[in-house]
Amino acid sequence: MSIISNHLPTDELQALDAAHHLHPFSENEALGKKGARVITRAKGVYLTDSEGHEILDAMAGLWCVNIGYGREEMSQVAARQMLELPYYNTFFQTTHVPVIALAAKLAELAPGDLNHVFFAGSGSEANDTNLRMVRTYWAQKGQPEKSHVISRKNAYHGSSVGSGSLGGMTYMHEQGGMPIPGIHHIAQPDWWAEGGDQTPEDFGLACARELETKILELGADKVAAFIGEPVQGAGGVVVPPSTYWPEIQRICKKHDVLLIADEVICGFGRTGNMFGSQTFGISPDIMTIAKGLSSGYAPIGGSIVSDEVASVISACEFNHGYTYSGHPVCAAVALENLRIIEEENIIDHVRNVAAPALKAAFEALEEHPLVGTINMSGLMASIQLAPIKGSRAPFAGEQGAVGYICRENCFAQNLVMRHVGDRMIVSPPLVITPAEIEVLATRAKAALDATYAELQEKDML
Ligand code: PMP
Repeated sequence: MSIISNHLPTDELQALDAAHHLHPFSENEALGKKGARVITRAKGVYLTDSEGHEILDAMAGLWCVNIGYGREEMSQVAARQMLELPYYNTFFQTTHVPVIALAAKLAELAPGDLNHVFFAGSGSEANDTNLRMVRTYWAQKGQPEKSHVISRKNAYHGSSVGSGSLGGMTYMHEQGGMPIPGIHHIAQPDWWAEGGDQTPEDFGLACARELETKILELGADKVAAFIGEPVQGAGGVVVPPSTYWPEIQRICKKHDVLLIADEVICGFGRTGNMFGSQTFGISPDIMTIAKGLSSGYAPIGGSIVSDEVASVISACEFNHGYTYSGHPVCAAVALENLRIIEEENIIDHVRNVAAPALKAAFEALEEHPLVGTINMSGLMASIQLAPIKGSRAPFAGEQGAVGYICRENCFAQNLVMRHVGDRMIVSPPLVITPAEIEVLATRAKAALDATYAELQEKDML
C-alpha cells in the first residue's frame, strides 16, 4: 500500500475510507458510493478539503471548536505535556499537575458551589458518570430506590447506552436496546413545533409542569434527577420560553430532585456567558461538560458537581472511572483553551460583537420566503424552514427532506450548516468576526435561494 497522506488523489482516499472506515451516524454503504469529503486542514473558521475548497465551518466542527482552528499555542502545550508526562492515571492514590490545575480552574469558573470535577473522555462518558453518580448519591443517603431519571423527548445527551437512554432521540432508541429501564422522557419546550395555540410563556410553564406530573406519578421518593440541556442543541437549537427553566428549578427543589444541566454545547461561551446555566438562571447540582472545554483539540469531558453531591459521593468508594479520566495531555490542552478564552475576552466578543452581528444578519434572512423563524441564543442558532410564510405548518412529506436539500446546497456554497429536520443549524467558532459572519450569511442566502428554486422545480412547496 502506498503511504496514505494528503498527497493522494481524493478518489483514492475516498476509496480507502469506504473500504475500511465506518462513519458515525451515517449510512455507510451510501456514503461509500458517494465518497466522503476529505478535510485536510483548517485555520480560524475555515476548513480546506482535498480539492482545495475553502469552506466556512458554521458548525465549529461538532459545536466544539470554540477558539477556532489552528491555534499554535495549543499544539505547543500538547507537545510539551507529551514529553513531560504523556499519560498517567488518577485511580490508585495518584494525581498529576495538569489535572489538579484544570479541576481548580473549573471550580473557579463554575457558578455557585460547583467545586468538584470528575473527568471523562467525552460528553457521553460524563453523562454515564452522572447517571451512576446520582443513583449512588441517593443510595448513600439511604434511599436506593430514588433512582429514576427524567429527561426530555428530543434531548441529546450522548451515544453510549446510558447517555443515549438519557437522550430522547427515538431513532437512536430503535437500535441497540435503548432506553434502559428507569429513564423517562417528558415534553420538550419547542414552542414552534409543539406549542399549538398557547403563548410561548404558557407553553414553557406547561412543559415544565410535565416534570411535576411525572415526579408525582413515579413518586418523589423514586426520582433521583432531572437532566436537560439549557438550549437543546442536536434537537434543533430549541431555545426554551423564559418561563421554562425557573419552573423546572422550582419543581426540582420542591421534590428534592437533583438538577443536571448538560452544558456540553452551551458551556464555555456558546450562549454569551461561560455557561448556559448563567444565561438561563439555572442553579444545577451537576453540570456535564465536554466539547468547548478543549475546543475539540483533545477529547475531554467531565461532570462538575456541587459541594453537597461531592461530599456524599466522597464518603464511599465510587467504583467508576475511565482510563482517560483526567488525561494529562487533554487536561493541559483544556487549560490552555480556557486561558485563551479568558485572556482574549472571547465571551465578551460573543456577547457584544459576534452574536449581535449574527442576529442582524439572520434577521435579514427572516424575509426569505423559505424562512419561518430564527431561533438563537448567543452564537447558536437555527433557521426554521417553512412552506408557508406566517404559519408554523410543516412541509408535506417526510420531515427533514427539505433540510437535507438545503444542507447539500450549503455544501455547494462552501458553507457547513447542519440540518436537524427542517432546521438549519449554525454554531460557528466563537472567534468569528463580523466580516466572516457576512460571508456566512451571504452563502446561507445563496443556499436558501437554490433550495427554494429546487423545491419549486420538484413541486415540493
Ligand atoms: N450532551 C450534549 C448536549 C451534546 O450535544 C453531546 C454531543 N453532541 C453530548 C452530550 C455527547 O458528547 P460526546 O459526543 O462528546 O460523547
